[in-house]
Amino acid sequence: MSTDHSKELFERSGRVIPGGVNSPVRAFRAVGGTPRFAARGEGASIYDVDGNRYVDYVCSWGPLIAGHAHPDVVRAVQLAAARGSSFGAPTEAEAELAELVVEMVPSIELVRFVSSGTEATMSALRVARGYTGRSKVIKFAGCYHGHADAFLVNAGSGALTFGTPDSPGVTAGTASDTLTARYNDLGSVGRLFAENPDQVACVIVEPYAGNMGLVLPAAGFLEGLRELTRQHGALLIFDEVITGFRAARGGAQERENVFPDLTTLGKVIGGGLPVGAFGGRAEIMECLSPVGPVYQAGTLSGNPLAMAAGIATLRLLRDGDAYRRLEALGAQLEQGLRKAFARRGVQAQHVRRGSMFCVFFTGQPVSDLEGAKRSDTARYASYFHAMLERGVWLAPAQFETGFVSLAHTEAAIDATIAAAEQALATLEVRA
Ligand SMILES: *Cc1c(COP(=O)(O)O)cnc(C)c1O
Repeated sequence: MSTDHSKELFERSGRVIPGGVNSPVRAFRAVGGTPRFAARGEGASIYDVDGNRYVDYVCSWGPLIAGHAHPDVVRAVQLAAARGSSFGAPTEAEAELAELVVEMVPSIELVRFVSSGTEATMSALRVARGYTGRSKVIKFAGCYHGHADAFLVNAGSGALTFGTPDSPGVTAGTASDTLTARYNDLGSVGRLFAENPDQVACVIVEPYAGNMGLVLPAAGFLEGLRELTRQHGALLIFDEVITGFRAARGGAQERENVFPDLTTLGKVIGGGLPVGAFGGRAEIMECLSPVGPVYQAGTLSGNPLAMAAGIATLRLLRDGDAYRRLEALGAQLEQGLRKAFARRGVQAQHVRRGSMFCVFFTGQPVSDLEGAKRSDTARYASYFHAMLERGVWLAPAQFETGFVSLAHTEAAIDATIAAAEQALATLEVRA
């Protein structure tokens, strides 16, 4: 497999962009080697600049639930672009996408659009603080909520991979308002509430933690957070930037039947274009300017091209049997990988919910960040490269979630399972 053009482009980019990338995990630092530069995508396939083809399980880190260049999405964006790309005035498309969000996500009565998941969580936190008049936020170690200062404390994803959970540039003052609890440990949350009486504005959580690998909530964990936040007069924020429109039509909240006060959305909602959103009960969202005093704005918020891609994508998900298909494809992949790992005698934890999946290279079940960190990341790196060589594009780091899209076929998944069996044979097998 030739990678000459990717190498050339990586060197060229490195001369003008820090590390050659605009988002750190893309640089392959966690697994070594040269990142493949993408040339184009079609359905479940991604082609690099050297003409190699891969089955894509990164799906742009979550947004591409309909696969690459879905004809409905392409057409919608082309039509919108021809009408003008931005107006700085409200458009019908914003109302339409907002109606879809309110219809599909159970706890959202009012929603506002932004341009990334980071903006969504940052703004939801401001609303929670404005509404409650309190300063502190409780988050969980290993959860990632974008790169705003308040959340870059014990964060997951790239921050975890790079071992800089407390990034330089985040002030001590900011960090001191961020309290960190342990995922799946209600006691740790209760203690923080007790130590900070009447100071906690909100608890923010990924209902399925997708940025330390994939870690699922234990029975009663989300319900417990709902109860604790109510007791202590704090808001509960579900960061559904990954799980929104992915775990189910109405996100993880619908699937788990636990409903937050505020929800943040991103990734799937833009169908591959930059969209984020935050929403919740009307009484809380009405704190926002221009109705209320909490300021929040954006020159390109609700951008017509991005709204068009979002509308086309959510329509594909709202109608028909999209989630049944995603579940079936996810189950096929999980079962096949379990068998392949067992046949090769490689110990691993296979975690999956719907179309989200992760394979931790550890013999112990994973329920929090500490457990995730027990994974053998060097082994993951070997597996990653062995799969890439065989045309399977996995996340270039252990602490990420994989995604299946509606464009994946049973045949592509069978080929992936066969590739995994070969790839695992190349790893040194431990007794
Ligand atoms: C990706 C992600 C974000 C940040 O979204 P960006 O669009 O990358 O800013 C926030 N929260 C979660 C749970 C995410 O996975």
